[in-house]
Amino acid sequence: MPKESNVYFKKLIKEDSILEIYENISKNVKGNIGLKVHFGEKNNKYFIKPNLMKSLVRQLDATFIETNVLYVSDRRYTDSHLKLAKKHGFTYAPIDILDDAGEVHYKVDGNHFNKVKLGKNIEKYDTIISLAHFKGHALSGFGGAIKNIGMGLAAIAGKMDQHASTIPIFKPSKCVECGTCVPECPGNAISLSPLKIDSKKCIGCGKCIGICPEKAFRVPWGSTKSNRFMERLVEYAKGVMQYINVVFINVLMNISKDCDCMSHAHEPFVEDIGILASEDIVAIENASYDLVNKHLDSDDAFKEVNNVKARKQIEYAHSLGMGNKEYNLIEV
Ligand code: SF4
Ligand code: SF4
Repeated sequence: MPKESNVYFKKLIKEDSILEIYENISKNVKGNIGLKVHFGEKNNKYFIKPNLMKSLVRQLDATFIETNVLYVSDRRYTDSHLKLAKKHGFTYAPIDILDDAGEVHYKVDGNHFNKVKLGKNIEKYDTIISLAHFKGHALSGFGGAIKNIGMGLAAIAGKMDQHASTIPIFKPSKCVECGTCVPECPGNAISLSPLKIDSKKCIGCGKCIGICPEKAFRVPWGSTKSNRFMERLVEYAKGVMQYINVVFINVLMNISKDCDCMSHAHEPFVEDIGILASEDIVAIENASYDLVNKHLDSDDAFKEVNNVKARKQIEYAHSLGMGNKEYNLIEV
């Protein structure tokens, strides 16, 4: 493998730009193509809008692919998930909720897992294009290509495997009992007076960490379980990539500290940056991370907003041989 990988970059974020930048990573794209997107949680306004990818989808005759989520949401079950996707404008191509047909297990040689549990219909695709919104995430610091295919293609059982042991730490002295977190908890795990998390109900989704205005919850990094969630995410992405050809497009716009899984994500904390494309998942994540830092003149912007040293995702993926950290940024 060469020491550096090409990452293509286009500042202008519009429909034609995605098609143009895609041409640089298209040489091994063939067969039945699934475009892995995120349809956006109800009331989320920052997910990548379907109009931006229309030309690409039509040219490739691609199918939108997704999986159902772990928590209480319209995206939990296929029927309501499909309705929400259509309401959000994903109407011009077929949609395949991969785990509606069950799950398939692939071997992976990781430190946490020896197999990954993915949505069964992934078997129907020859190539996956990961079209990821690069933004923050309460548990993993940022969510980009690794999260899009690692968590985003996992069946429910796979999502549970990745989230296990990530119950947030709660600091009672910070809590003012405003109650904001209670109805937002998808596991119905939080009760008030005094506030308690029921560890049997908590699914480790991290929503409370992003929602609490007093910052009373935090990720349990720094403990003996430090970084476990990010490593698990990466191993799932590796499991996907060992069996299916995947290429990557990251869109750096509307970069909130929160994931598109949040109904009411915080306002973006950095201006829109552009679109990146690469055949190398490590290189594109590193280039995306660096560009956000550069725009804010920060050493680690996602550490500042989410208190997570999120470059761990990139370092770990590199250590598993998934790609190069070094990259050539080629403006197109
Ligand atoms: S949102 Fe924060 S301050 Fe409000 S009840 Fe929940 S933990 Fe306490
Ligand atoms: S992480 Fe927080 S929001 Fe998610 S299920 Fe657990 S207590 Fe609820």
